[in-house]
Amino acid sequence: MILHVDMDAFFASVEQRDNPQLKGKPVVVGGNSKRSVVAAASYEAREYGVRSAMPIFMAKQKCSNLCIVPGDMRKYSYESKKIMDIFMAYSPFVEQTSVDEAYIDITGCKRLFGDHTKIIMGIKNKILTERSLTCSIGAAPLRFLAKIASDINKPDGIFIIEKIMVKDFVKNIDIEKIPGVGKKAFEQMKILNIKKLGDIKKFNSSLILKKFGKFGTRLIEYANCIDTTPIGQNAKRKSISSESTLSEDTNEIEIIKKYLLSHSNAVGKDLRKKKKLTNIVSIKLKFSDFSQVTRQKVVNTPISSTQSIYRETLALLEKIKIKKKIRLVGVNVALLDKEIGHFQMELQNEVHEKIEKWEKVDKAIDSISEKFGNSIIKNAALKHQTNPRR
Ligand SMILES: [Mg+2]
Repeated sequence: MILHVDMDAFFASVEQRDNPQLKGKPVVVGGNSKRSVVAAASYEAREYGVRSAMPIFMAKQKCSNLCIVPGDMRKYSYESKKIMDIFMAYSPFVEQTSVDEAYIDITGCKRLFGDHTKIIMGIKNKILTERSLTCSIGAAPLRFLAKIASDINKPDGIFIIEKIMVKDFVKNIDIEKIPGVGKKAFEQMKILNIKKLGDIKKFNSSLILKKFGKFGTRLIEYANCIDTTPIGQNAKRKSISSESTLSEDTNEIEIIKKYLLSHSNAVGKDLRKKKKLTNIVSIKLKFSDFSQVTRQKVVNTPISSTQSIYRETLALLEKIKIKKKIRLVGVNVALLDKEIGHFQMELQNEVHEKIEKWEKVDKAIDSISEKFGNSIIKNAALKHQTNPRR
């Protein structure tokens, strides 16, 4: 379950909290010169039609008794940090996306804090009692839905999209509510008569990809209730991944294996460059209908050689039933904190020797490709592979 927390009229609320004279009044934070714009507007000011990014002079025209407060970014970022600390007490997977917004992955928090309603109320309550501020929270099993949900009962509201509601909810989302849909995309959709997210599925995916490019992939995934964007920059940094879309969708195992080898090589190389090891290897396969599977495996002895990573990816591939054609193959490895040398000492001689042999091969390959570029040397199995489409 993913939460999206959005503070209500953040800068303006902080000012109203710290200056009781501003309570209940139309307040904007912003400069008072001709060229200034509204940085934040209190809900009282919004009732007059005042909005963020509106020129101050225009805001004054709309609301004659408007209180204009100069901003204090240091105060807001201090406040922001205090609020993020509250989130971090619930989950390590917090991703701050702006000064007053964050995603929190609370999937693993149930045992510690209770079900998600309890967690949501707990967070809201803490922000209110400790910071005297209100926020709106959206909750959903998918990241982009959480973002949409936090806006539904704003201000001071919550909206929870339970797992069983997802399919129906997704179908009926107004297209302009989808994060990332800008003016240009919106105009294009109007022409195609796409009004709801569910309408995307009426079109051939190749047409959507042609019209919307990379964002098209996202739209198709969203329409199929898929959002794999991880929460938390920490989680992202602690792994290395390599993936590519195939030049042509296929269900031929040998081709898929070649891609796995190529990506094992890419992540292995990166690992070795960082002098790191991995003990968790995962693979990702995306099918022609954009559904996807990931499988991961914990390996007992940490590894970094291309061959060892490749071997693990093959074991994972065997566990997946391939019923549809595949359009994308990816390999991901989690970084272990310790460096390579540390583990080598702990290894038994026998295993050590085997690994060392492959490490020598990798080392040679790494240094040659460093000097002459990636295309000059490849594993023999990859010899005839054409470059994947991007
Ligand atoms: Mg906000």
